[in-house]
Amino acid sequence: MKIRLSMGTAISLGLIKASQSVPPTTLYIMLGKNCVNNCAFCTQARESQAPEDRLSRVNWPEFQWDEFIGQVKESMMEREIKFKRACFQTLAYEGMVDELAQAVGELKKTGIPVSAAVKPLDKKELEILMMAGLDRIGIALDAASQPVFEDVKGMGAGNPFTWEEHLASLDMASQVFPGRTSTHLIIGMEEADQDVLDIMNWCLEREITVGLFAYTPFRGVKAGFSPPDVPRYRTIQALRYLLFDGDVGFGPDDVAVQGSRIVRINGLDRVGQEAFMTSGCAGCNRPFYNEKVSGPIYNYPRPLDDREYAESINLVRRYLGEL
Ligand code: SF4
Repeated sequence: MKIRLSMGTAISLGLIKASQSVPPTTLYIMLGKNCVNNCAFCTQARESQAPEDRLSRVNWPEFQWDEFIGQVKESMMEREIKFKRACFQTLAYEGMVDELAQAVGELKKTGIPVSAAVKPLDKKELEILMMAGLDRIGIALDAASQPVFEDVKGMGAGNPFTWEEHLASLDMASQVFPGRTSTHLIIGMEEADQDVLDIMNWCLEREITVGLFAYTPFRGVKAGFSPPDVPRYRTIQALRYLLFDGDVGFGPDDVAVQGSRIVRINGLDRVGQEAFMTSGCAGCNRPFYNEKVSGPIYNYPRPLDDREYAESINLVRRYLGEL
């Protein structure tokens, strides 16, 4: 079976000789050759003119599955490299669930917890993946609101998806994989802050982890948004942290929204530097998925230094009008 690996994964495994500034803590694997769907923001969409080895900013060279598994074992045993997680990015294609279940079963034997980002699946398919030993399942909403979803991922994009079905599917996944379900939200597709707050609360009620992405423009894809404003992105990161990770007693009254904008967040002094690092499944750092190494860095793939942390908090305060 042929797969694609993110360039960083291939370098970490020694399959490609090159240097990298921040190695991935997760092995990123892409399953499938062509996606049948047509999400407006995606480089792998049916009508995308972007190169076929691109997903977001990352190149994904092709390898044989056996070569990959052999190299994972060799890296762990002989070079003592520890990977915190492996994650399959799956394209939508016939037979995907069976192929994924088999791959998960094999990779799990190395002891690495395995996640998979999939399209909405039915209960039987989710159970097949659970039985195969999948640690976490991810179903990306990508859009933070129904109108944005319809435009970029639903009918407006030429896909059969609906917002309601995606929510229902995430809800079902959170029952089959309780406390082990994730979703992705892309910030910067003209969603309002209130939309982001509402969908985060919906996820929180179901113990669904939220991984934040910044919209990244590419030549050849249909959507034409600009990257999000960094102070706004930092504010949404701080909010996500307080809601999901902070363990700091953050409640609905601790955030205020006026019009389409967050204007107050209580407890900013309790926002740790992890708030501005890559979010999602534990151990996932997705280095430079949304940004150039030279910045601006939306999701830090490593701990922040004191200056970066202070600057990030100041950007939140600036967005809230406190500075
Ligand atoms: S958060 Fe990371 S590990 Fe989890 S599904 Fe998303 S890309 Fe994969």
